Amino acid sequence: MKITLPVAAAKLRAADNILITAHVNPDGDALGATLAMLQILRSMGKNAQVYIDDKIPKNFSVMPFAEDIRQPREDEKFTADLLLVLDTSTDRIGAVKNLTDAPILNIDHHITNKGEEGDLYVDADAAATCEIIFNLCNELNAEISKNIAVCLYTGIATDTGFFNYSNTKPATLRAAAALVEFGVEPNVISEQMEKRTLQDVKIMSAALQTTKLFYGGKVVGMFIDEKLYSQTETTEGLIDLIRVIDTAEVAFLITEKEKKVCRVSMRSKGVEVSEIARLLGGGGHVRAAGCTLYKDFDEAKNILIRAIGDYMIENGWMTPADFEERAEVSISDFDNE
Ligand code: 5GP
Ligand code: MN
Repeated sequence: MKITLPVAAAKLRAADNILITAHVNPDGDALGATLAMLQILRSMGKNAQVYIDDKIPKNFSVMPFAEDIRQPREDEKFTADLLLVLDTSTDRIGAVKNLTDAPILNIDHHITNKGEEGDLYVDADAAATCEIIFNLCNELNAEISKNIAVCLYTGIATDTGFFNYSNTKPATLRAAAALVEFGVEPNVISEQMEKRTLQDVKIMSAALQTTKLFYGGKVVGMFIDEKLYSQTETTEGLIDLIRVIDTAEVAFLITEKEKKVCRVSMRSKGVEVSEIARLLGGGGHVRAAGCTLYKDFDEAKNILIRAIGDYMIENGWMTPADFEERAEVSISDFDNE
């Protein structure tokens, strides 16, 4: 059931033991929101704990209280009177589901979240879940310490591509400005998030070499197979290297994480990739979405490229001539231009 922000605040006030979680494959917003809520709830005297069913990428492990995050063990239980699910619908939290049967409070900014389970506060206009948590602080009369501000700023900055994407609204910048007043140093956060090992910079080059154009260049894709994936620390940011290609309406990155588990990220300049992702069992935002295809890499690639083409032709984003041009054009064809 959909609820308002004051009602969400009241539910948090009424609970004593709160289990906080976010989506698997956690990003800056998921981690910023959970770690900010951890601190806010503890400052309210609550017993709060964060569980995330995944590894925490190295760049985010510098966030305040990141060392407090637990990964659920098999058969583990947590006594909670509220399960707070942030930055995702309740179906992407992995084994955290098995930790408790507590009622769910879900706070999210994904347009594809329909609130099928528990109470949902969703604001699809918010650039990040962290922007919602910033507003929630007002509702809760919670003081924003520097550490809380760092978490919230990191989430807002990473979900807006450091204030580049179309989700950056006046309210987003106002929230970010307030967080800087609470002590955040934007350059420090940027440096932490941009940091890459030499190995990963070299992987970027290998990943770029896989780039291919489809449908007359309207779609551009990058392909990380299991071997390349096993050498990378993070695939974060790889898609940003190709979404800048001038002809591209849609950019995708497909990563074979293990046999028959292929992660897909999509970005667009307007095409509703959230819809394409939803059709493939995932979700996200209009211009940034993803899904997982449980298929062999080659089959997953074909399903994805076909689904993007079908959606774009059905919705007027490409002409039949573009659609026919399925033959791939490798960037190596342009090497000597
Ligand atoms: P990314 O490409 O950065 O992993 O994800 C882009 C956006 O789509 C994020 O907001 C993310 O939460 C959402 N997203 C990515 N994968 C999935 C998925 O499998 N299911 C749903 N519902 N959303 C996803
Ligand atoms: Mn988010």
